[in-house]
Order: sequence, then C-alpha cells, then structure tokens
Amino acid sequence: MPELPEVESTANRLRDGRPPEPALLGKTIARAEVYWPRTVATPAPRAFRQRIAGQKVMAIGRRAKFIVITLSQDTLIIHLRMSGDVLVAKEAKPAGRFTRLALWFTDGWQLAFDDARKFGRMWLVDDPDSVLGGLGPEPLDAALTPATFHALLAARGRALKPLLLDQAFIAGIGNIYADESLHLARLHPLTRANSLTKDQAAALLKAIRKVLRAGIRRNGASIDWVYRGGGYQNEFRVYQRTDEPCMNCGTPVRRITVGQRGTHFCPTCQPTP
Ligand SMILES: [Zn+2]
Repeated sequence: MPELPEVESTANRLRDGRPPEPALLGKTIARAEVYWPRTVATPAPRAFRQRIAGQKVMAIGRRAKFIVITLSQDTLIIHLRMSGDVLVAKEAKPAGRFTRLALWFTDGWQLAFDDARKFGRMWLVDDPDSVLGGLGPEPLDAALTPATFHALLAARGRALKPLLLDQAFIAGIGNIYADESLHLARLHPLTRANSLTKDQAAALLKAIRKVLRAGIRRNGASIDWVYRGGGYQNEFRVYQRTDEPCMNCGTPVRRITVGQRGTHFCPTCQPTP
C-alpha cells in the first residue's frame, strides 16, 4: 500500500504534471463517470457526478496517505489503498479494465482511477475534516517536536511497530517506513512505547523523518506492480531483506509477524526489549 512518500509523490505529480502528463492544477472538471459505485464513499455516485461537474482544481496536496484535491466548492479526497492508481490521459483513452472512475476536464484531459482490487475510495465533501479529522500529526510537521512526540509515546503502552502504523497516533507511516525507521533508531519493533527515554523518542522521530524524506526524494518505493517510478526500494535497510546482512553489523535481517504484519529488523542492532 502506498505510504506517505508514495502518496506525496503522486500528489506532486498530479499537481505539477510529469511529462507527458500535464499539471491538473487550474483545470476545470467537465464531467465524471463512476464505473464501480463503491469507489465513491460519499456522496452517492449520481450526486457525485452532479456536484463535481464545473468545479475547478484549486490545490492538490496530501494528508496522511490521502490525496487531497481542493476544488472550487468541495474537496475531493482519494485513498489508493492496496492497488489504486491515478492516471492522467487524453480523453480519447478508453476506460481500462480496472478503471473505477474517471474525471474529464474541459481541455480534453482525463484523470482515471484504476484499482484492480477495488479497495480504493474517494470522498467528495465540503468539510475535509469529516474524512481527515481523526488523523494523528504529520511526522514531517515542525509542530511535532521531540518533546511532544515523547509525551505521545509515554501515554501509550503498545509496542512501537503497531503504534507507528496507527494513523490516529501518527499519520502516513505504513509497513515499509515503520520497519526502516525502527532500524535506523535501533529500536526493537516490540519495544513498549511508554518505555522510551526522551533521547530514544527524539532518535525515533529523527529516524522517521530521515526515512520519509529519503523516500520522498526517490519518489517513494516501488515494491509491486501497482506503484511505479519509485527508487527507494533500492535503499531499504531491512524491509524485505530477510536473511540478508544488516548494513550496520552484518547480522542476518530477521522477519517476524507483529499484529499480522511482516516485520523486519536486525536482532543485533535492535535488541529484544
Ligand atoms: Zn545490525
């Protein structure tokens, strides 16, 4: 599933364009077609089509793992989930086998939402907080200080790995960047959040920011057939490197299951708590 760096990269691509794709910023939506009704979480597909027609793209950004498209009246929020992808093409391109929704712009370009597994969702809302309101802080936001992060951790008794994946605790981190951050911070994935010292909490926040920024610089990680164009998979420290040597110490990377998620760590650099 795309995480913060992949979604940020996708949002930037839609906003600024990436040749041959044009920027969507400033374009006006002429009409919409919904091919798979459940893709639109709200409103009902018919209302979605009526409401979105005529609205102009004012801004495109990201919150957590959501693409947030600010329109002239409403906000269009997209979650790619497992297999969602947004493609910009000329109108002549017919809907693909996995196209669940398409927006046509007045200048002939279209934004197609392809989603083989159909878990992706879109919301067209007047108040973005109705979808995004329950999310935790953005890890790259300077307002999240090491002291604040330590206080947030101190209030939680859970293991670090599932806590970092909890979008209400901190937004945008998934399996890749959680494993990478914990290795960089030299913390075992099962370490209890409230056992961290101030220094360990600061080191973890620094590590999270470092791996996310590195991910963004490489346009995210491409680990399956869905998300293409990323380069961060070539820099993985532990993720999907089971039995390969740790880049710090040479110990084989181990894979365990934590909260049903495959979790990669170095038993030497990240000792059992
Ligand atoms: Zn190691």
